[in-house]
Amino acid sequence: MKAVLDHVGIAVKNLPAALAFYRDALGLEVEAPEEVTSQRVRAHFIPVGASNLELLEATAPDSPIAKYLEKRGPGLHHITLRVEDVFAAVAQLKARGVRMIDETPRPGAEGSTIAFVHPSATHGVLVELKQAAPATSHPPPATSPDSQVKRFSLGELDLISVCDGFIRFDGGAMFGTVPKVMWSKQQPPDEGNRVLLAMRALVVRGARTMIIDAGLGDKEDAKFHEIYGVDRSRNLDHTLAEAGVGVDDIDIVLATHLHFDHAGGFTIRDASGRVRPRFPRAQYIIRRGEWEDATHPHARNRASYLRGNYMPLADAGVLQLVDEDQMIMPGVRVRRTGGHTMHHQMVTIESGGTTAAFVADLMPFTSHVSDAWIMGYDLYPMDTLAAKQRFVKDAIAKETLVFFEHDPVVAAGYIREENGKRIVVAGG
Ligand SMILES: [Zn+2]
Ligand SMILES: [Zn+2]
Repeated sequence: MKAVLDHVGIAVKNLPAALAFYRDALGLEVEAPEEVTSQRVRAHFIPVGASNLELLEATAPDSPIAKYLEKRGPGLHHITLRVEDVFAAVAQLKARGVRMIDETPRPGAEGSTIAFVHPSATHGVLVELKQAAPATSHPPPATSPDSQVKRFSLGELDLISVCDGFIRFDGGAMFGTVPKVMWSKQQPPDEGNRVLLAMRALVVRGARTMIIDAGLGDKEDAKFHEIYGVDRSRNLDHTLAEAGVGVDDIDIVLATHLHFDHAGGFTIRDASGRVRPRFPRAQYIIRRGEWEDATHPHARNRASYLRGNYMPLADAGVLQLVDEDQMIMPGVRVRRTGGHTMHHQMVTIESGGTTAAFVADLMPFTSHVSDAWIMGYDLYPMDTLAAKQRFVKDAIAKETLVFFEHDPVVAAGYIREENGKRIVVAGG
């Protein structure tokens, strides 16, 4: 295997003193620090030729770096070797009996994929293998962290749009029969022809607290993350916390359908490896037809349904199947749209004479408000068309605030018709 030195990680106890040496005495340039929240560490990169030194500073007492400093004192923490294919590298090492910390590669910072080798195999040095993220042909979307949490009030209800991060799906599949020369202007694809989707859930606070859908969740492995270009560096845990909503606050989890980008966050894997409901107090409401389809998948829809996202709900006795359109809590109703899946449902929300709608995969992006923009993924596209025409007419008349689950930029907006063309004006 070909490996190049990417960087050398150095655990630092006293940052000013370390900077006095590396920056002032050696005269090297220190880049602006990067915060790795999940590891509770701040990283200061110092370019040295093709590689970097990385000064690692703990930001909390329970940070792995703080623990390392306590045990071993400041000094060399790890070295990182960049490889072309981290999966092949790990397979090669395991074939030779090398002990790994990560038996399967996992997502690292900035879209990379990483795996740590156990120090007992490397003669005392912690070695990280890293495969860099594929270069993208365009910059990331215009979303700042705070655009992932948006609050709206609707009569008596509070609506909070939260986000589980981003995923990439094939552009052709997202836009069906629409030619690429048209959709690529709205959403530029990456070199793999993939376009960026947000995974937005909606918290509804009223008589009770509900969350509609819950994104991808964290049960998928690095291979999955690579195929779908997953970026959950800021995920539902972060955005719910920012919204001031704890997992214990949720009374109802409502599913539009059970595809993995909507239902993955319904469950989590606990420390013992068991998959269990993520919201411990909640009843999970799912449409019976969708449950039947998800539990009896066929060749066309099988890749979208992952059993660990919903079977544990039945095992835990928190599942509530509904058969038809009905009120779920005051002001909140489900309405079957069909189209995307036979029993896909949207959610309408009404309070104080105003209306909102969470349309899920009926119109995943704002560009899907046009009649002919229908996903190639949809199992029954003519039903999508009929449901969309019905809904959009009504939404324009009632000035409905429409939530777009997958739009990477606009969480919610109002549909308007101008000169025979439909547009979305961002709300909030
Ligand atoms: Zn779907
Ligand atoms: Zn979706």
